[in-house]
Amino acid sequence: MVLQLEPLHTCNLTCTGCGRIREYSTNLKDMVPLEKCLAVANECDAPMVSICGGEPLIYPKIEELIAGLREQGRVIYVCTNGVFMRKKMRDYLAAIYSPDVEPKVKRLIDEKLLSEKDAEAIRKPSDAARAKVVIRPTKWMYWNVHVDGLEFTHDLIVEREGVFKECIEAIKMAKILGYQVATNITVYKETDVQELEEMFKYLSSLEVDGHTISPGYEYDAAKKDMVKRLNKQPEDFFLTRKMTRQKFARIQQWGEKFTIFGTPVYQEFLDGRRELTCTAWAIPTYNIKGWKAPCYLMTDGHYDGYQEMLAKVQWDKYGVVNGVARDPRCENCMVHCGYDPSGALGTSYQSGDNWKNIKYNFGSKPKPWPASQELMKVAFNGVSIGKGHLAEAKAAINSPRAAMNGAQAAFSRKAEPDHQHEGGACGAGDTSERDALLAKIKDAKKAE
Ligand code: SF4
Ligand code: SF4
Repeated sequence: MVLQLEPLHTCNLTCTGCGRIREYSTNLKDMVPLEKCLAVANECDAPMVSICGGEPLIYPKIEELIAGLREQGRVIYVCTNGVFMRKKMRDYLAAIYSPDVEPKVKRLIDEKLLSEKDAEAIRKPSDAARAKVVIRPTKWMYWNVHVDGLEFTHDLIVEREGVFKECIEAIKMAKILGYQVATNITVYKETDVQELEEMFKYLSSLEVDGHTISPGYEYDAAKKDMVKRLNKQPEDFFLTRKMTRQKFARIQQWGEKFTIFGTPVYQEFLDGRRELTCTAWAIPTYNIKGWKAPCYLMTDGHYDGYQEMLAKVQWDKYGVVNGVARDPRCENCMVHCGYDPSGALGTSYQSGDNWKNIKYNFGSKPKPWPASQELMKVAFNGVSIGKGHLAEAKAAINSPRAAMNGAQAAFSRKAEPDHQHEGGACGAGDTSERDALLAKIKDAKKAE
């Protein structure tokens, strides 16, 4: 149903706990060639392609890749950390500039989303800029911007001040230019649900078109062993199914107020109203090593062909059926790449599901949340008001008390990959470092 295409694993950021930039080569030499990307999209023939990574806007042929996938008639999500989005949209403006575009250019300048200097370059483009293949707004493509919290939290997680602000400016520019924008949100063990709701409100007030949302998940054999040997509670280590269901208890209400992408059947699974079985083969991942099996999160092997992967992987070894994990690593997994397709494919069909899915996805969407100064103040609660991660937050994390309970370790990068379970990009995957960091953010906020 969706191809997760990772043309490269290079990234301009080094987010806490990101698995991809640590587990695969991030050398720019290690990329999937454009022709291969287009060929694998044809091979598995998923109607939707999510281009992720790494940071896909670093991929030198990203424009050609998007154009090629559009020619194949696919819906495209560009999963980005947002930092290079405005550059790509300036390229688009330069390529199409005419006097008709001037009102939009002026508006972007007025709203401080474009500098006078950049506007001049757009008004007098070189021949090369006019001829460049660019990313154009279309109803078949979404910018899918990675946002894991409001300014304070998000900048801390991505380990760079100003990234949240840049994401917001990119989203505003994209909306003015007519692009569709989604946000890509991962919920961790320590995610503050109240903050999440404020974030939905703020993003909705910017007229963001919708949100992809999933619980993060990690499996670590060492932790599992500690549960067994030390008689600890699984909740001490994992975002368990029970905890995920608590976090997502209000997803139905969120879906009424904000546009949450996916199926209502998956939402019922997330909040505990029903069970589903995993259909990881329906959202396959292709990257520099090949077709990754069995899923986006877990790696038991890579295959050269999609059909080969389908045929050789013993799919009935994975997932959870009637509460029993077929593989211990799947026990607490509820991620969207494993279970959202189950809701759409009807693998655990209940009467009325199809109508429910159609009504939810093609019915009227919630209206944008009213914009207000108060909401903006809530959103910009970090570096914009002098509370960046390099100042107060880092001080809190580096305090003697934090050192004692391991917060400093949470902020430092993980050197050794976890071979039991390879983490995912932009939030999915190894969540332990982020969970620990989010716990410290909460502490730091409480201490204010
Ligand atoms: S249950 Fe989760 S971890 Fe297990 S195969 Fe499915 S998607 Fe992967
Ligand atoms: S989570 Fe995404 S943005 Fe962050 S380092 Fe990893 S690939 Fe880059």
